Amino acid sequence: MHVLVISDIHSNLTALEKVLSVAGSYDAVWCLGDIVGYGPDPNECIEVVRGLPNLVCVRGNHDAATLGDVDQHTFNHEASLAISWTKREITADSQDFLLRLPETTIQKEVTLVHGSPRNPVWDYVMDYLTALRMFQFFDTQICMLGHTHVPAYWVESESDSKNNLVLDFQKRTIQGRVILNPGSVGQPRDHDPRASFALFDTENLTWELRRVEYDITSVQARIKKAGLPWRHAMRLHEGW
Ligand code: ZN
Repeated sequence: MHVLVISDIHSNLTALEKVLSVAGSYDAVWCLGDIVGYGPDPNECIEVVRGLPNLVCVRGNHDAATLGDVDQHTFNHEASLAISWTKREITADSQDFLLRLPETTIQKEVTLVHGSPRNPVWDYVMDYLTALRMFQFFDTQICMLGHTHVPAYWVESESDSKNNLVLDFQKRTIQGRVILNPGSVGQPRDHDPRASFALFDTENLTWELRRVEYDITSVQARIKKAGLPWRHAMRLHEGW
């Protein structure tokens, strides 16, 4: 089975549509949370995501905050402003979709979470030392997560695993236990503004990281029109 793995779309419809248009053929989509937050297109992104083939999606911290599940004051000021805006904009239908998302799930022997297997919605796995501690919190060979907006490929037994800002490969056959992050579709933070996603083959166990340029200017225009913090528009250009 060919799986398109996406995460952290953050209400960026332009980036999402671009990823879907270049991803090629896939049998299923695994989405690692944070469909909403920061950006101007929450309902549009949910509508597209929910229509994807054999969709499996977990809940992110921005999804949870939009539902009022968590105290949004734990977010920085501008992220919190965007959550308040999203709460006003979100339709009952979209809200219902977010409400049904599980915090974690196992698919084809792969654990899927937004943050970490220890704390599915909130933990950040930013570096290899943190990743190493996480291997005890899941039983499958593979764990996929998002939340940091930075692609990563960590192997339990490999001392030179990439605690990376830039991965030095595009396609790799998975060996041993790994924690994988496809990066962010809608708000990359590794100083590469291109939308990030991955293709996973469940039979051959290959992981292919891909990046694609999209029309950032049009998203920035919608951010401005919506009255969302300009910082969320600026950062798209520089990828932080
Ligand atoms: Zn996020």
